[in-house]
Amino acid sequence: MTTTTKAGAELAREIEKRRTFAIISHPDAGKTTLTEKLLLYGGSIREAGAVKSNKIDRGATSDFMEIERQRGISVATSVMSFEYGGKIINILDTPGHKDFAEDTYRTLTAVDSVILVVDSVKGVEEQTERLMEVCRMRNTPVIVFINKLDREGRNPLELMDIIEEKLSISVRPLTWPVNRGDRFKGVYNLVEQNLYLFRPGKTSIEEDRILIENLEDPRLPKEVGEEDSTQLKEDVELIEAAYGDFDRDAYLSGDLAPVFFGSALNNFGVRELLETFLDISPAPRARETDIRTVAADESKFSGFVFKIHANLDPKHRNRIAFMRVCSGTFQRNTMFHHVRAGKSIRFNNPYSFMASKKDVVDSAYPGDVVGLYDRGDLKIGDTLTTGEQFMYQGIPSFSPEVFQELTNTDPMKSKQLEKGIRQLTEEGLAQLFIQDQGRRKIVGTVGNLQFDVIQYRLLNEYGASCRFTPLNFARACWLTSPDRKKLDRFVESQRRRIAMDKDENPVYFAESEWDLNYMRREYPDIDFHFTSEFK
Ligand code: GDP
Repeated sequence: MTTTTKAGAELAREIEKRRTFAIISHPDAGKTTLTEKLLLYGGSIREAGAVKSNKIDRGATSDFMEIERQRGISVATSVMSFEYGGKIINILDTPGHKDFAEDTYRTLTAVDSVILVVDSVKGVEEQTERLMEVCRMRNTPVIVFINKLDREGRNPLELMDIIEEKLSISVRPLTWPVNRGDRFKGVYNLVEQNLYLFRPGKTSIEEDRILIENLEDPRLPKEVGEEDSTQLKEDVELIEAAYGDFDRDAYLSGDLAPVFFGSALNNFGVRELLETFLDISPAPRARETDIRTVAADESKFSGFVFKIHANLDPKHRNRIAFMRVCSGTFQRNTMFHHVRAGKSIRFNNPYSFMASKKDVVDSAYPGDVVGLYDRGDLKIGDTLTTGEQFMYQGIPSFSPEVFQELTNTDPMKSKQLEKGIRQLTEEGLAQLFIQDQGRRKIVGTVGNLQFDVIQYRLLNEYGASCRFTPLNFARACWLTSPDRKKLDRFVESQRRRIAMDKDENPVYFAESEWDLNYMRREYPDIDFHFTSEFK
């Protein structure tokens, strides 16, 4: 065997071992609790309560303290890596608050699959639907975990219908609950055709579980009661008839969502979820760039930045860029090609998120996330390669929904303000649009909370003070046209309603849906887009 093929075989083994995914949910459905239980299985934490919720509570005593707390936690838990069952699992954390949804959307471009947590009492909620839309944009495989079966939730069959209808995806249960509420006994594993019963254990993994080997096991009625035993058998028969065999390819192409039931808090159904997840979920796969598809097992390294975290320690102007490795092997102290900047770049102290060795990492493989200390060279969406000239696709900017004009209130600090707002928007906190060669700055976000954050951070990290004035815009639309001259004329004639985004692309501010439709009718040669990804 030549060295190259030996190296190739090793790379293939490393790729196959990796599972990189995000757990997403509407706030309060149980994302943090489930993450924590998975980490318990991975042995990376011993006690529940170790994973801090990254929620921002609008009613908290001080929002600003909350924001700071959240930022601290958010770096620590941005990526949680651990080993389980011979696999290396990378969980990418996403913010719960809807005002930070764009951060979540971007993180979803860096994963290979998703576990979506649904509250069995509340069913599919607003944020669940939006998150699912983003998964659909990239055909990301989705597994659904229906949580809180220990509460009087909805009927499981009804929940299956709700998910199918509201999330527009076919479903296939892979576990099934035995009763619910106070009579919830556990989940039947439809794949292994067995049932583990155990006592609720909130802080550690319950080892003394009772295994019911199959539905004919005489211990079944003894342990769960005649009624539940009969009901379970009927349910299983119905499910097998109604849903047919589980089609893994349909799951991998994002057309079918396997469904699991359980209670994260009580650690019911979590092991079933984890083990089946490791069996069926995709290892890192090929990814699209603007030029070609790049396979994960190509020998040359490539990766992209999907998140930037700035100024955690105000004394050090360091930022951490989170880079997902997409192909080849990432190596410390190696010169890489920074495609956008067209220059070489090297990282001496790349950071690993493995719970066991949270420290400098020497090498990383496709699926891994590496933390890169950055002094302002990197932006969200940047691609690093070993020399090849391509950019990874799929970090779109989404149309903001809230717009405010930023005014400098301390003329002595205008440089600091410029720098601060540029860096904060590079971090992805908000989008900055410029009019009049930069004299007018419009900040667009998906929620109001970011304005508090920006104002607070500008003052605390850059010493700059500013005022925000709400603007009466509802959406920002990126503009294109097959006819360049017509586009230029449109931009000229609508100057007051048009600004430039960070890449100098023109953006039109619509006051309402009606306004936008009117413009579309009036200017049929101009295309209006809700995301910046329209090439
Ligand atoms: P997140 O906002 O999605 O991260 O939700 P959390 O994990 O913080 O959970 C929200 C609340 O639901 C917390 O009070 C949890 O203790 C509770 N919770 C989570 N899982 C369960 C469960 O299985 N049963 C019950 N009854 N409560 C749960």
